[in-house]
Amino acid sequence: MRARCMWCGEIRFAIEDLECAIPARAPEALCGFVCPSCGVPQFRRTTPERAIDYVRSGAQRPTGPFPVELLEPHIGPAISWNDILDLRLAFAEIDQLEAAWRLEGSAPEPASQFDRAA
Ligand SMILES: [Zn+2]
Repeated sequence: MRARCMWCGEIRFAIEDLECAIPARAPEALCGFVCPSCGVPQFRRTTPERAIDYVRSGAQRPTGPFPVELLEPHIGPAISWNDILDLRLAFAEIDQLEAAWRLEGSAPEPASQFDRAA
């Protein structure tokens, strides 16, 4: 097969090295391969019909984790750099609170959602 690696440009690989996830009732399928040149995983959306053709020709179904969330529709505004900085500041405040609790020896017990009713 021939494909484009986002880093190496056009590359070739065996169809047996292609993995295709075809979620039921989804309008798209996801196929991926590891670039034989740089080793970076590459994923592409395609039609379920084309993915089925790839599988019939020798592509594999995913045997491990596969990022089918790439097929989810993207709604809402894009995350901005300010959003990321705000999140980092929020984490820093949590870290400072935890450090203060540790110094006071008053760290709250972690909540358990599996408390037994004895
Ligand atoms: Zn590559």
